Amino acid sequence: MSNIQTGLLMLLLTALGILGYNVWLRESTPPPISYTAFLADLDKGVIQRVHLRGGEITGEDTKGHSFSAFAPDLTGLMPLLLSKSVEITAEPVEPGLGGFLQSLIPVVLILGGWLIFNRSQSGKGSGSGGSGFGKGKGSHLLPIGMSKITFADVAGIEEALGELTEIVESLRHPEKFSKLGGHIPKGILLQGPPGTGKTLLARAIAGEASVPFYSIGGSDFVEMFVGVGASRVRELFTEAKKNAPCIIFIDEIDAIGGKRSGGTAFGSNDEREQTLNALLVEMDGFSSDETVILVAATNRPDMLDPALLRPGRFDRQVTIALPDAKGRLKILEVHSKKIVMTIGINLSAIAKSIPGFSGAEIANLVNEAALSAAKHGKQAVTLADFEEAKDKIVMGLARKNAVISEKDRRVTAYHEAGHAIVATLLPETDPVHKITIIPRGRALGLTQQMPLDDRYTYSKEYILNRIKILMGGRVAEELIFGRLTTGASNDILSATEIATRLICEWGMNSTIGPVAHMHDQGEFLGGSSIMKPYSEQTAQRIDREIKKTIEACHAETRQLLTDNNKFLHTLAEALLINETIDAEEMSIVYHCYLSDKKIEDSLKSSPEETTQA
Ligand code: ADP
Ligand code: MG
Ligand code: ZN
Repeated sequence: MSNIQTGLLMLLLTALGILGYNVWLRESTPPPISYTAFLADLDKGVIQRVHLRGGEITGEDTKGHSFSAFAPDLTGLMPLLLSKSVEITAEPVEPGLGGFLQSLIPVVLILGGWLIFNRSQSGKGSGSGGSGFGKGKGSHLLPIGMSKITFADVAGIEEALGELTEIVESLRHPEKFSKLGGHIPKGILLQGPPGTGKTLLARAIAGEASVPFYSIGGSDFVEMFVGVGASRVRELFTEAKKNAPCIIFIDEIDAIGGKRSGGTAFGSNDEREQTLNALLVEMDGFSSDETVILVAATNRPDMLDPALLRPGRFDRQVTIALPDAKGRLKILEVHSKKIVMTIGINLSAIAKSIPGFSGAEIANLVNEAALSAAKHGKQAVTLADFEEAKDKIVMGLARKNAVISEKDRRVTAYHEAGHAIVATLLPETDPVHKITIIPRGRALGLTQQMPLDDRYTYSKEYILNRIKILMGGRVAEELIFGRLTTGASNDILSATEIATRLICEWGMNSTIGPVAHMHDQGEFLGGSSIMKPYSEQTAQRIDREIKKTIEACHAETRQLLTDNNKFLHTLAEALLINETIDAEEMSIVYHCYLSDKKIEDSLKSSPEETTQA
């Protein structure tokens, strides 16, 4: 059934409903008499009882006949009623609202009927058949549109944009892609903390490709009545396929895409799972010549049902991190174009002063600054306005515990620098790819290494050095701050796991020897494991060796970082300023450090010359 037909049917039913309601009203209201007639009856003493509702009078005379009338003035009527000792009942009327609510009754009735009908329809598991009334019902609920936002409106997340240009290209020229036999990804999952521009980016993809764009919030599916979520999913995809190429955007997909629990007491969960199943079925049902791309966004990728992430579904995942100082500057530039600023405002200094701000918070900052300028009656936004806005936002964030303290930033900078320096100074390690102190998920910072080539075997030295790199974070904290934090718990876990496998699986420990021992299967390096039961005594020896290995690595790392503590300070300071350091910048810092060290060493080795000079 087409949308127009459905629309007409709805209209007809509404009209019928209103008609029916009016007939019912007329039947339930007794015949009206004039107010004059009512007063005359009252004077004659034939009125038995009245019921007052605003000016409306309904009542009964002594013969038991009902009547109704309308009183233009109740204050004058009351003494008369009392003098004739008429039984009075009354009810209040909310001015305006009562009538309005009453007029809504038919609409509510129809809607209710429609939903119940719909529910029984989807319960049958088919959207077709019968009158098809349930179909197309959401067409007016489906917000299809064209987006005017382009990649130019999204700043500071070049990496993510880079990953998406190919997808935009495939939407623009689907024929070019299919001709080459390439397959266009069906699902793109945008993940990242709130306010990093995921929603904005989804709109930008549609705008950039200039294709239509259906947008729907994950919770929109769920808060509806039972059975509607699943049928809305089906309908959404049917509509979208008709309008291909196009984009379906499901924001906050965790609302429907959360892990399935498998049988719970809550009906709402059941509903959510039905919706999720429908989504999975639809995603599998696309063929590659239907250029419909599903873009979804979430702050909680860890919450998603693994089924969604399987190949052929959301196989393209784009992570958007909080912006670093450079990124924040770019976002500031985009948003400050919309306001009038005094000349000479140093945006770069502002960007540096707001670590941890998301794109949304930066947009808010610019807006608040403009409001502050307006409040003070200024012609243009000044630096003072930015300061005022910043204080306001930071205070709000502090209340939500979302600001990272300066102390934590310093600890994180030294911790990450510790990892990176050990990785740089030791031989047989993977080069450092990126270091950042921008928080992701629960981690406050991250040091990434990039293997040069695919390795199939690892030397003992490589494995021991990995443990030392892991220890580097904690050791740097010990050396600089002299105290331990919980920030290294993950590192310690990984180091213990590697040491265990070194001993139990790879037979690299001379005391235990080249014998395989049973252990928990990890995925590190993906080796197969041989199970061998062993005695309590052996278990103790293994534990001792694990501890010894890690302690030895710890001591060596401590020595290495002590010997190179200038490098540690330089890198940590660089991190505090830039927040992210890539491989190239890392090698610059390293070479500066090396040449400084050379000069120092040469001065040390010839003390006489120095004293003479
Ligand atoms: P999310 O969906 O990740 O929570 P939004 O896309 O809703 O974030 O971001 C909210 C607003 O913040 C956007 O409309 C935009 O004004 C601003 N914003 C966020 N990130 C960026 C960015 N990278 N570039 C420009 N503006 C951004
Ligand atoms: Mg969003
Ligand atoms: Zn660490």
